[in-house]
Amino acid sequence: MPAEIDVAVIGAGVIGLATAGEIAQGRDEVFVFEKNRTFGLETSSRNSEVIHAGIYYPEGSLKAKLCIEGKNMLYELCGKHNIGCRKLSKIIVAEDQNEVTWLEGLYEQGTKNGVNDLALLSRTEVKKLEPNIEATAGLLSPSSGIFDSHGLLKFLYGQARERGTQFVFGTEVIGIERTGGKYRIQIRDRDGISDVVAGVILNCAGLNSDRIAQLAGIDIAKTGYRLHYCKGEYFSLDSKYRNMVSRLIYPAPEQAGHGIHWRQTLDGRVLLGPSAHYVEGIDYAVDETHKQYFYDSTKRFLRFIELEDLVPESAGIRPKLQGPEDDFRDFVITHEEKAGFPGLINLIGIESPGLTAALAIARYVGRMMS
Ligand SMILES: Cc1cc2nc3c(=O)[nH]c(=O)nc-3n(C[C@H](O)[C@H](O)[C@H](O)COP(=O)(O)OP(=O)(O)OC[C@H]3O[C@@H](n4cnc5c(N)ncnc54)[C@H](O)[C@@H]3O)c2cc1C
Repeated sequence: MPAEIDVAVIGAGVIGLATAGEIAQGRDEVFVFEKNRTFGLETSSRNSEVIHAGIYYPEGSLKAKLCIEGKNMLYELCGKHNIGCRKLSKIIVAEDQNEVTWLEGLYEQGTKNGVNDLALLSRTEVKKLEPNIEATAGLLSPSSGIFDSHGLLKFLYGQARERGTQFVFGTEVIGIERTGGKYRIQIRDRDGISDVVAGVILNCAGLNSDRIAQLAGIDIAKTGYRLHYCKGEYFSLDSKYRNMVSRLIYPAPEQAGHGIHWRQTLDGRVLLGPSAHYVEGIDYAVDETHKQYFYDSTKRFLRFIELEDLVPESAGIRPKLQGPEDDFRDFVITHEEKAGFPGLINLIGIESPGLTAALAIARYVGRMMS
């Protein structure tokens, strides 16, 4: 590796991969530093693989704009490059009158955001589309879907490499220091500690992105960049349920997530999740004692499931800017020039819909740098 490079991207999750590929065009040295042995081993491979429509987020927020833009880009890319994907649509279900009112609000919100194909459904209409689902009312989102996230990660990795990006795996960024208008980055790999100077840093470090900002000298308490971890667990369902429901089914959401939902994978397996509870550290074990909670949360709209058919599956951790009691927080995608850090671009709090929005986020960062 040269002693000096143009751009250092920290993290090879979907955001680092997409962004590195986007900005590599026309630049000499773009290096991606990734602490794991390869790309995409953290949040980018521990999620629902759902292409979100862009309904839930406040109008004008980055989450709303980049989700809708990213969704369209993602469907196009998957179609063009043979990455598995199905626009199977989703129904968000309401049980009581409070939830029906909330659903109507969601319809308004989504429509304001530019999701123009939403439809409110009566109980009979829900039954007609999904005979095995119980609901007082529903909201149909035809543009929601599922896709092969690993296929996307592999494609983005290949594309970034083709465009000249270099990947340095097994290498953790442990220090950042300003030096002559650039950044001296301290890295640790199996040979020890060394450093490299970069003109630009893209902080795409997911669950560590607040710490990377702090290493660079940003006061994360003052800027509100400190992350809270919110764990989401999944349980799988027995194969006998495979053909019971053909769409994604979501309930009224819990405060920190979109609620425990029913989803199919591209190979036809059925999963329930993710749950949402705040945790202190990173631990991907699924607590089997949560089974009853999963069952109780979903039984009200999936009357046919049996407790013994739920099996612990996997878990992921959301890098959330909002704590348990906080209001909505948007993605942070900021060039920290005004804070006195020209060339440092922070991407913090890239939780859901980060996967859906990844291609649009990359384009947004590309524009910031041009
Ligand atoms: C339970 C759950 C369900 C979700 N479901 C969906 C969904 O259905 N649809 C959707 O659109 N989004 C979903 N998301 C959100 C989506 O998964 C994330 O927004 C996205 O994967 C974030 O990607 P990333 O690249 O920012 O983070 P990551 O994939 O975590 O990548 C960050 C990388 O940075 C590396 N790194 C960290 N620190 C350092 C360091 N110091 N030095 C070097 N490397 C470092 C890490 O090793 C990691 O590889 C979900 C998230 C969760 C947790």
